[in-house]
Amino acid sequence: MTSDTLQDKQRKLDALARKIVDDKVTPELAEQATQLVFGDGNPNAEVVFIGEAPGKNEDLQGKPFVGASGKFLDEMLEMIGLQRSDIYITNIVKYRPPNNRDPLPAEKKVFLPYLQSQLEVIQPKVVVTLGRHSMNCFLPDLQISKVHGEPKRIKIQYHGAGSMGHGESGSDDSLGLVILPLFHPAAALYNPLQRQTLIDDFATIPLIIKKLTK
Ligand code: URA
Repeated sequence: MTSDTLQDKQRKLDALARKIVDDKVTPELAEQATQLVFGDGNPNAEVVFIGEAPGKNEDLQGKPFVGASGKFLDEMLEMIGLQRSDIYITNIVKYRPPNNRDPLPAEKKVFLPYLQSQLEVIQPKVVVTLGRHSMNCFLPDLQISKVHGEPKRIKIQYHGAGSMGHGESGSDDSLGLVILPLFHPAAALYNPLQRQTLIDDFATIPLIIKKLTK
């Protein structure tokens, strides 16, 4: 569809990050946060990981998953032969909610078009959602305890490659994606059963990518 170079993609992602600030998305969260935590990694990644929202460490460093759950995520990436530089990682909500509370439905909703534009730029093969908040953005009716580890094909609407024209009518199109819902690493960290389930589900990622590349 698009033949954007890595630099084109990075430029579009940088513009999208600036747009979130210019659009004053969730001003109450922005006011309390240290900075926007937009996303990090390879704009050409085949796999994009999506968490919930930045925590304290992410807020301070400006990068997603740099705390305890990020360390666990790095270990699981290593198990499947990947590094951060191979993947792209972001969150639904891009400012830290106060006291690490769950993101509110209105906050998730207002950030969703920006997340969709991020995916539109990157064009990954697989989107791995971490936790129920992230999964429910794409698969609202499913329960993570029932469908974790099961890849699902979906289509998302977007507003034309790189236009980022949120809320505008016009050149709408759709992007086909495979969503792999996984448990959130923070939840799995202290629950041995869930931890092993997450590790087992994680191990299927290379097989899914291989199948989609055939
Ligand atoms: N948990 C998340 O969902 N995202 C982060 O960036 C860190 C922890």
